[in-house]
Amino acid sequence: MISKNHSDNLAFPLRIVKTLVAPDKRILPPHPSDELPFGKIHSNHQFVCDFLHDQGGWQTPSITPFGPFLMEPDAVAFHYGQQVFEGLKAYRMPNQEITLFRPRMNAERFHHSAERTGMEPVPVELFLAAIKALVAVDQDFVLPQPGSMYIRPCLIPLDRGVSYRASKDYRFFVILCAVKQYFASAQSVSVYVEQEMVRAVRGGTGDTKAGANYACSVLALQKAKALGADSVLWLDALERRFVEEIGAMNIMFVYEDRLVTPPLCGTILPGVTRDSVISLARHLGLTIVEERTDIHQLISDIKNNKLKEAFGCGTAAVISPIGRLIFNQEFIDINERQPGPVSLSLKKALTDIQRGEAPDPFGWRVLVPLNDH
Ligand SMILES: *Cc1c(COP(=O)(O)O)cnc(C)c1O
Repeated sequence: MISKNHSDNLAFPLRIVKTLVAPDKRILPPHPSDELPFGKIHSNHQFVCDFLHDQGGWQTPSITPFGPFLMEPDAVAFHYGQQVFEGLKAYRMPNQEITLFRPRMNAERFHHSAERTGMEPVPVELFLAAIKALVAVDQDFVLPQPGSMYIRPCLIPLDRGVSYRASKDYRFFVILCAVKQYFASAQSVSVYVEQEMVRAVRGGTGDTKAGANYACSVLALQKAKALGADSVLWLDALERRFVEEIGAMNIMFVYEDRLVTPPLCGTILPGVTRDSVISLARHLGLTIVEERTDIHQLISDIKNNKLKEAFGCGTAAVISPIGRLIFNQEFIDINERQPGPVSLSLKKALTDIQRGEAPDPFGWRVLVPLNDH
């Protein structure tokens, strides 16, 4: 068993070796009016820090030009699906400062994801220092509203050899993307209810951000797209009855003054957006109910007009109103496929805090220091 206390050789403030692209060779950030495919416009640099077990643990981190990793075909990373990641955003404030949104929650979740998948967890302070340093270097890729920057930290094994075991060595890296909204045009999304395949089981890795969870989901996404849906609604693995998540978002339902969402019982991802929406909804006077929803009950509530609104929430898309379910070939529309007032006011309340256009009563924004790089 690898000791989990290998951060002793990291000193803070973190010393990072920087090899930067010459200013005249850098790619320019996209213009705010450009069409931006989500996650494809990367910035000029990347952060890399290796964990080498026999060399004392975490090595000196670096910020280098964005570019490929050279890996042998027998690298463990290619064979057993061990990989975990995170996703968070940096926002440009009206006064041009740059802030992160609740990054410590991502750091802690990343730590949990690594532990659960048998990898060396990245110390929370290393995660936070890495992101702040890299965002400061590529700060011009934090697009002004309605854009932002999407931050993608990732952890992979570095060991070689085609034998199944825990690795000793790891690579923690971070890349950045300039982004706008996730669902470019649609007002609301339509979701296909998957009744055969499942995403997560109790005791599995559904509450981690592991690439493996996505590997077993992508076929259902292809089915959904073929039916004209944007995303997949997942049901619980045991009974295929209780609603769990949609795609890479947590799901929420609005009934009069109640906000209903599945409880965190191991098979769903504990979203930062989910947690934030719950706090804001409570603040707006809604009653929060964390309990399971039966898909058949949900459909009858939609048809009887008891369910007022449904939406997905996650960092990439923030809040996505759900306008249509596709269930057994049937199209079931919600709120005439229009975003409802609760979805819209929660979205506004959340994005106003994220973008620095409202006070931050919960202390969620974290400033990125910009001058010491
Ligand atoms: C990342 C993710 C979410 C949303 O989490 P946020 O922290 O709000 O971005 C929800 N479900 C799954 C499966 C995810 O991977």
